[in-house]
Amino acid sequence: MAKTKSVYVCQNCGNDSPKWIGKCPSCGEWNTYVEEIISKESKQSIQLAGIQVTKEKPVLISQVETTEESRIDTHSGELNRVLGGGLVPGSLVLIGGEPGIGKSTLVLQVVMNIRNRKILYVSGEESVKQIKLRAERLSSDVADCYVVSETSLEQIFVHISNINPDLVVVDSIQTVSTETIESSPGSVSQVRECAAALLKYCKSSGTPVLLIGHINKEN
Ligand SMILES: [Zn+2]
Repeated sequence: MAKTKSVYVCQNCGNDSPKWIGKCPSCGEWNTYVEEIISKESKQSIQLAGIQVTKEKPVLISQVETTEESRIDTHSGELNRVLGGGLVPGSLVLIGGEPGIGKSTLVLQVVMNIRNRKILYVSGEESVKQIKLRAERLSSDVADCYVVSETSLEQIFVHISNINPDLVVVDSIQTVSTETIESSPGSVSQVRECAAALLKYCKSSGTPVLLIGHINKEN
């Protein structure tokens, strides 16, 4: 049996506490603490489940390459400008905004314009058919883009190791969940853990990740 550990997390600001508290000392909101179960034992295995990345090894300083990193041109003047010239290898970019403002459409449009790069587009929001229909309305060209409807973090890493993409898109972080945490998708612990695992993947593999995240105005 896995040893379980629970933590109380403020659903408003993400502050955590070992005990339930009525008023959050961090953001001042009342009754925002919710118990979230973290199974401790399997936490160790999260990095092992299907993730195949080259381990960080110390290198001689004289052999560290300092040549300009090859950025991925998004073919969107606006987005390239925001990113400082394109998507940098090993960077995680969060596309945040209120639900329904067109984040998925914007990202899909960008992805469909990227050439000569293998892209893995993971959606927990839509079926592959829905993505295809939207993509057809956006572009007539065919990008080297693989689509999958997936919400399991562990499965996402299996797809990544099978496809070995140059760019990963996850729509949205709120729909992704890991088996190592028992709380529901979208909860603070799930979002935090899944984002941390994706960040770790992108740092160690050098593959950029575009992460879509919903931000509710009420919060
Ligand atoms: Zn708080």
